[in-house]
Amino acid sequence: MYNVKAYTNKSKFQNFNYGGFIVNLDNKIKVSMPFIHLKNNIVININNEFEKLTGYSKEELSDKSLEYISKILKINKQAFLKNITCCCEVFIFTKESEPLEVTIHKKTLSESEQIYFIKEKPNSRMNDRFQYVGAMLSYSKTGTAILSFPDLILLKANQKMFESIIHPSIHINNSLGLSITEVLPMEYKYNIFEKIIMQVAENKEPYFCKEMRILTYNNEIKYFDISIVPIIISGKIKYIVHTLKDVTEKIVSSNIIKEQNDELEAIIENMDDEVIIFNKDGKCINMNKKARVSHLIKDNTNITIEEIYKYTEFYEMDGSAASFDELTVTKLINGEKNEKKRLIRKIYNNVQYIETTGTPIYDIQNNFICGVLVIRDISEIIKYEESLYIKAQYNSLSNMIENLDLGIYRIKYPELHIIDINKTAYNLIKLVKPNIDPHSSLIGKSINHIITKDYIIDIIHNTSKNKYKSCFKTVKYNLDKKEIFRKYIFQPVLGLNNEVIEVIIIGMDITEEIKVKKELENALKIQDEVYSNVAHELKTPLNVIFSANQVMDLYINNDMTETNKQKLLEYNKSINQNCYRLTKLINNIVDLSKSKLGFLKLNLSNQNIVEVIETIVQSVTQYAKLKNLNIIFDTTIEEKIIACDPMMLERVMLNLLSNAIKFSKPNENIYINVVDKNNMIEISVEDTGIGIDKKHLGLIFDKYYQADKSLTRYAEGSGIGLSLSKVIAEMHGGKISVESELNKGSVFKLELPIKTVKNSKFNGRVNMRNKVEMIEIEFSDIYS
Ligand code: ADP
Repeated sequence: MYNVKAYTNKSKFQNFNYGGFIVNLDNKIKVSMPFIHLKNNIVININNEFEKLTGYSKEELSDKSLEYISKILKINKQAFLKNITCCCEVFIFTKESEPLEVTIHKKTLSESEQIYFIKEKPNSRMNDRFQYVGAMLSYSKTGTAILSFPDLILLKANQKMFESIIHPSIHINNSLGLSITEVLPMEYKYNIFEKIIMQVAENKEPYFCKEMRILTYNNEIKYFDISIVPIIISGKIKYIVHTLKDVTEKIVSSNIIKEQNDELEAIIENMDDEVIIFNKDGKCINMNKKARVSHLIKDNTNITIEEIYKYTEFYEMDGSAASFDELTVTKLINGEKNEKKRLIRKIYNNVQYIETTGTPIYDIQNNFICGVLVIRDISEIIKYEESLYIKAQYNSLSNMIENLDLGIYRIKYPELHIIDINKTAYNLIKLVKPNIDPHSSLIGKSINHIITKDYIIDIIHNTSKNKYKSCFKTVKYNLDKKEIFRKYIFQPVLGLNNEVIEVIIIGMDITEEIKVKKELENALKIQDEVYSNVAHELKTPLNVIFSANQVMDLYINNDMTETNKQKLLEYNKSINQNCYRLTKLINNIVDLSKSKLGFLKLNLSNQNIVEVIETIVQSVTQYAKLKNLNIIFDTTIEEKIIACDPMMLERVMLNLLSNAIKFSKPNENIYINVVDKNNMIEISVEDTGIGIDKKHLGLIFDKYYQADKSLTRYAEGSGIGLSLSKVIAEMHGGKISVESELNKGSVFKLELPIKTVKNSKFNGRVNMRNKVEMIEIEFSDIYS
């Protein structure tokens, strides 16, 4: 309620007509119109209605200046209250920042005293007028502002509006009541906003723009979807609702993609590889510069593979024509991936090595969309690979030469300087020329530093004369204790003008080969002898058998058997004897061949060796007696169990005994001794017969050797027995040896290791009939 008493000077309060609303202060009519009473520019009173309307209390405003009131009601930018004469229409803002459209009437009471009556216009409240405004303002993603029109006073706005474009530090409250143009960034204000407002004012139609580029307060480029919507009341624009939605992020990312695409296209266009992109019909949809240049194509749109390859021929890397079906491009059109296929491509006369890669591109449904063919010129790479290959080959060749077992000497011609010599060559020289300079210092020096025979120089000159022929030379060197042999091959190397520029000498040590050759020659000589021996050995008993047989035939055919019975028996015995002799020879040949092939096997069993030997000796005693020879057996032990094959030992012993008997003269003794020598048993057979010449001693155990034909003329033999005995002794892990002196006699020693076997199966007894037969066979050549 307004208390009129407060106003002492009644005369000043007349009936006021404020827009048809009568205020009669004198009659103490309730004054329901808000007012502010000022004196000397200072508030002296406000009524309750003012408090209600604005939300400010008396206490807050009393004693405050008119400027202060203008400021808090945010009208100081709209009107100068002090200067208005009668009334003005403005927007005031409540304490809650709610804009109210009001008419302010000024009543001047005196020079120093004024009353400002504030009358709110009907429907002035925003929230009542714009139902959606509240929602818009609270929508934090879009900047929204409501402006008055035409003076564009900022009536309402949300913080987003400020953040987006104005300045985040400016608070809404400081800007309300101002014209928005005062806070907008310059560029936006002049170049966009004012122009749009004019357009909107003219057309009275809303303005919408998507993705508008705006320079913000800090000169940052941002993109906004903007709307400027006029609110028309009674045919006039009353308000402007302005929204700004920041879409910078979206634009930037889509721009990036666009930029990236452009960039990608630029990269492809300028790539060093040829790139051709085909669609599923095999038509080119893109082709970069390099590909266009290579294929001599100006316009690449929609051309077919055939057109692209009109002038092109493809070959495989081996030079054979490439089949069209195997080309990467053909596979690509069929949706097949093909990686790094190497080809030779010929376009007119331009030949290149290329590497082609085809990558088919599929969509999410796995449909072939297009194929990307990349062709890379690898001519340089191939050249490089070839040079690497050649280098590797060269390295391995020089490595091989360096480590070759052949001596290689490269001599510069005609200067006769050493270009190179390998390790083996150096070692060969060092052997015959121990004072040779170190290997590394020889290069470039004269050949005289390495040669030992002067005639080598003559051979080099001869070789260079012959040009195309290599020359061979075997050289013998007499070193301290031995002879060595070298073979040299001289090979001329021709230069571009067909003159000899180098002579390569290949040297090899053939000492071993020479030795083997000599041995071989010897062996062949022996073999010849053996053949004649064996032939003789076969012929002799056969002759005897045939002759005896002929005589027997004669007797039988002429009925003379009875009278010649004794003779017939002797002939029969002779046939028998010679059959044994043939058997012995054949047995020995067969067994020796078996041993050579590894088929001769021992049947080892644990035996008392003393008993085995004694039994054999006993069995031949009577044969010796026939030749008036004494056999004397002696042993240092009674028993020694060792692993042996008694049948095989019997063959050795019978051979030694038969030889002793064969080569002894009547009435001589033959001694058989068994001696235990700790780790072996030594069995010796000693005779005092014809003995063996020293020169034959080392050879009599060789196959088919007969010491001296002249000396053995009174005895027959093939020379196989001792070879076989040696084989059998060695199969036992033992050995056989001989000591002999011509005309004095011989001692053969058989040594057997003392060891046993785990599974000894032999029952120890030899069938006596077999034994007699064995002796007959072994002794057959003595008594024939
Ligand atoms: P053969 O069947 O010829 O006797 P061997 O291999 O048993 O064959 O003997 C080879 C040669 O060794 C004999 O031809 C002989 O010249 C010589 N020889 C072997 N034993 C004696 C020996 N006890 N006394 C002299 N010479 C022997």
